[in-house]
Amino acid sequence: MAAKILFHVSHEFISGDTSAVSVKIYAVGTVHFLNSFWKWLWKAKIHERLKFFMWKISVGILPTCDKIGRFLPLINPFCMLCGGAPESVEHLFLSCPFSRSVWWGSKWAFRLDHFQNWNIIQWMNLILDRGNPAFDSIAQNLEFTTYAAVIMDLTWKNRNKVLHGEEIDSVESIIAKTDSKVREMLPSQISKFKDANQRHDLHIIKV
Ligand SMILES: [Zn+2]
Repeated sequence: MAAKILFHVSHEFISGDTSAVSVKIYAVGTVHFLNSFWKWLWKAKIHERLKFFMWKISVGILPTCDKIGRFLPLINPFCMLCGGAPESVEHLFLSCPFSRSVWWGSKWAFRLDHFQNWNIIQWMNLILDRGNPAFDSIAQNLEFTTYAAVIMDLTWKNRNKVLHGEEIDSVESIIAKTDSKVREMLPSQISKFKDANQRHDLHIIKV
């Protein structure tokens, strides 16, 4: 029989920057109650603001042109960074030549073109997964998660610069900013991860 648990789903989510989300989520059920994706997202060791940004992408409320276009048919639906395809989260974060160049030029030399047919939830699963055997250590895995979240955030901000008629950052600039932000954020993410693991038993009550 599956052990039932009381799982404090979003301890870190609600204990950090509450400007992001004011909703407290608790769930009682079996260990299988939670979809693994959401569990990963709530527990992801990334900055609270980035977590909220990732949540908006995942639940489909990031105001990309494909979504806005349903209400405002006259809007130009094409990607503001490349103009080569309708703007969706999949295009912006997985297919856009701008994002592909950023990832390829980054320290990971990551080939985003391998993920062209993925949907955004599949991508989120990949970047939030802390048990990915591709990484040598948890620290490296956490760094990749943080790195991906920062790239996506800066890409979205760059897209918004186009929207507001501002000069956009180059691929090189986005890479440099990402490196800098990740260096700044990572020590606290690793520390949070260690703390969360130590607290883990406190949040699981077998009945
Ligand atoms: Zn594009």
